[in-house]
Amino acid sequence: MHISAIGQDSHRFEHDSSAKPLVLGGVIFEQYPGLQGNSDADVILHALTNAISGLTTVNVLGPVSDKLCLEEGVTDSSVYLRKALESLGAWRLSHVSVSIEGKRPKLSTHLGAIRASLAGILDLSQDCIGITATTGEGLTAFGKGEGLQVLAIASASRE
Ligand SMILES: [Zn+2]
Repeated sequence: MHISAIGQDSHRFEHDSSAKPLVLGGVIFEQYPGLQGNSDADVILHALTNAISGLTTVNVLGPVSDKLCLEEGVTDSSVYLRKALESLGAWRLSHVSVSIEGKRPKLSTHLGAIRASLAGILDLSQDCIGITATTGEGLTAFGKGEGLQVLAIASASRE
C-alpha cells in the first residue's frame, strides 16, 4: 500500500546585511542572507515536514515547532522534520520530491550537497530524493529574488 502527500512553505529573505546564514535542506550558504523566521527558516525542511504531516495527519510546523523554538530554543529545522517522521508509525518513507522556486542562490551546483544532506536527515537513499529548482521566469516574488518557495511531495509504503 502506498500513500503520497504534498507540503509547501515559503520565506522572505532577510536584508542583505543580515548575519543570519541561509540554510537550505540542512546545507549552510554563508554568502547569502538567511530567510526570515524564528527558526533557521530552512524552507526545504519545512516543506518536507509539511509533506510528512500530510502523510501522518499530525501537524508539526506551528503547534509543535513553535513550542520547540520559543520554549526550548530549538532553531534547527531538522529537529522539526524528525518529529514529523516519528509519527509515520508502520509507514516507511519511500521517496521525496522537492521543487524550489527562486532567483537566488543559483542552486544547480549545490543540488548534490542538498540531496546528500536530505538523505542523512530522512534516512533515505539519494536515489529516492528528487530535487529541481527553477526561477519561474521571474514571474513571482520568489522568481524576483525576494524569497524562496518550496513544494514537496513525500511518499510512503507499508505491507
Ligand atoms: Zn517555514
